[in-house]
Amino acid sequence: MESIDTLIEPAFLAPVQGPEHVSKGLAVAIRDGRIVAVLPANEARLRYAPKTHLPLPHHLLIPGLVNTHTHAAMTLMRGLADDLPLMRWLQEAIWPAEARFVSPDFVYHGSLLAAAEMLRGGITTCNDMYFYPEAAARAFVEMGIRAVAGAVVLDFPSPYARDADDYLNKGLSAFETFKGEPLLSVAMAPHAPYSVCDAAFKRVIKASEHLDCPIHLHLLETAHEREESQARFGQTPVARLERLGLWSCKVLAVHGVFLTEPEQERLARAKAAVAHCPSSNMKLACGIAPVAQMQRNGLSICLGTDGGRK
Ligand SMILES: [Zn+2]
Repeated sequence: MESIDTLIEPAFLAPVQGPEHVSKGLAVAIRDGRIVAVLPANEARLRYAPKTHLPLPHHLLIPGLVNTHTHAAMTLMRGLADDLPLMRWLQEAIWPAEARFVSPDFVYHGSLLAAAEMLRGGITTCNDMYFYPEAAARAFVEMGIRAVAGAVVLDFPSPYARDADDYLNKGLSAFETFKGEPLLSVAMAPHAPYSVCDAAFKRVIKASEHLDCPIHLHLLETAHEREESQARFGQTPVARLERLGLWSCKVLAVHGVFLTEPEQERLARAKAAVAHCPSSNMKLACGIAPVAQMQRNGLSICLGTDGGRK
C-alpha cells in the first residue's frame, strides 16, 4: 500500500471540465498538498494507506473557486456607507476612511480576515488590488491561499504613496520581496481610467509587458465615467485605452457594466476578460447587468466580490 496524507471520498466529484463530467464513486488521493490520483473509490481503498480518510457521503467536491476581483483588506470597512452611489461612496466615505486608517497593519489584518472568509467559502484563489500589496501578500502566504497581488496605481496621494510614479515604484519593489512564493503571482493594477493619467498608464503597460503579467483595472462601473472621460480626454474610456495600447496586453476589466456592444466586441477581440461584480448600485443604475449580452459578444466573464459593500 502506498502511503498518502488524505483520501477524500465525496458522493459526487465535479472536475474543472464542466457539469457533464460530474461523477459518482470516485476518490481523490492527496500527498504533500497535491492531488496524486483521482480514481474509483474501491480501487483507492486497496491502493492507498491514508493518514486521514475523509468519507463525504453527502457532498459534492468541486475545484477551488476563484475570486477575480478583491480589495481584500476592505473587509475591515464592510458595510460603511454602503447605501451610497459609487462616486459618493468613494468620495465621502471610503477615500476619507482610507486616508485616516489604511496602514501596512490594516492591510495585513484585513487581508487575513478576507482570506479566512474566502477559504471557508471554497475560494482558493483571489485577484487583489489594494494599497500596501506587500502586506496583503504576507497575509495571503500565511493563510495558504493562492493570490494575485496587484500593484495598485492612482494619481492621487494616500498614506501608501504620493503620486502615480510612487505607487508604481512601490508596487514593483513589493513584487521583488515576495518573488519565489509558489502561490503568489503579480498583476499591474491601475485603479481605473478616471483615476489614472495617460503617463501612468504608459508606464503600467511597459511594466506589464516587461513582467509578462496581466493588467487588472476597473472599467465603466458607472455611466458617468463615459461622460467624464469624453469631457476630460475627448475620448471614451475604451477608445482612450486603445490609444494608449492597453488592449494589446492581457487585461482583466472589472465591472464593464456600461460597455456598449461594439466595445464588448473590441474587448473580446483583445481576449480581455470582464470580472462581473454585482453591486446594489449597478442594479439600480441599469436594471439588469448585461452578462448574457457580453457572453453573446464573445467576452469571457468571471466573478469577483470587490470592496466592502458587496
Ligand atoms: Zn473594485
